[in-house]
Amino acid sequence: MAKKRVLSGIRATGRLHIGNYLGAVKGMLALQDNPEYETFYMVADLHTITTAHDQKTLKENIREVVLDYLAAGLDPEKSTLFVQSQIPEHIELAYLFSTTTSLAKMMHLPTYKEKLKLHPHDSTVALLYYPVLMAADILIYKADSVPTGIDQEPHLEVAREIARKMNSLYKTDFPEPKRFVTEGEYIPSLVGEGKMSKSVEGSYINLTDSPETIKERLAGAPTDSGKGEAVPKEGGVANLLKLVELFQGEDKKKEYESQYLGEGIRYSELKEELAKAIYEELKPIQERRKVYENEPSLVDKILKEGAQKARKVAAETLLETKKAMGLT
Ligand code: ADP
Repeated sequence: MAKKRVLSGIRATGRLHIGNYLGAVKGMLALQDNPEYETFYMVADLHTITTAHDQKTLKENIREVVLDYLAAGLDPEKSTLFVQSQIPEHIELAYLFSTTTSLAKMMHLPTYKEKLKLHPHDSTVALLYYPVLMAADILIYKADSVPTGIDQEPHLEVAREIARKMNSLYKTDFPEPKRFVTEGEYIPSLVGEGKMSKSVEGSYINLTDSPETIKERLAGAPTDSGKGEAVPKEGGVANLLKLVELFQGEDKKKEYESQYLGEGIRYSELKEELAKAIYEELKPIQERRKVYENEPSLVDKILKEGAQKARKVAAETLLETKKAMGLT
């Protein structure tokens, strides 16, 4: 039986944080190690330029994401690793898809509106087009599983709609891709509001952070007096408890919850222990990163081979689609 395909990617806006790791990379790792799946993982550099960027840092950031991928355990022997812009077929397929996509639908997507709020000067066609390109990224590999955080769900819905429309109009055989859900599908920001994101300073802990930096970042997370009648369901304390659950387990979280209702939580101790637990998980990742940082030509080779493999599959789907649409 043919293997099921998987596609995921992360924008090249800087080093990865624990939100990217728990929400996306952990799912990418789980599927890479499942022999039923063939996995394609990219650095989404074309999605990065949908908002203002600096040419020099973009190049460096592409490398940072590749290094973080390899450090986290993505294995070129098991997964095809590549940089999105090296497979121009994605853009061509996205254009074909755009002929079936409603402008009004794109303009009303919550993700588009949020991005515009964050980047009010970046009201470009490319930003509006983001979900169409993302549909092409996924469907060009006929991937039916996409490990990402919950914030990407509206984009996956667009990809499913495009697949249905293409299949009904042109008798293509695109699958309807589903999100591969992980335990950390939504990691809250350390500043107490919204999700952890590279675009919000102070909101994140990077995979490369030292124990001191992790402590400093956690120290800035807002808390309260430590006790009350009910454990907060949102805000700074709830967010800290979510991180406790993910890095120290549910029992530890329950322990803190009963302290909150009783004698009170001592946040300095909670943060100290949490920082240690986070670092324990990041330490092997940081060690592996150093190995790849010292082997730039090996990383180049991995990306070159990955691009060749990805391009072969992408070119086939593109040709098939063009034929189905009457274009060749
Ligand atoms: P960022 O928002 O930090 O710039 P991206 O938009 O490049 O990150 O997202 C890359 C991947 O990481 C996506 O799959 C996204 O769903 C996931 N992700 C980003 N932030 C979080 C978060 N706070 N919690 C869970 N997953 C996240």
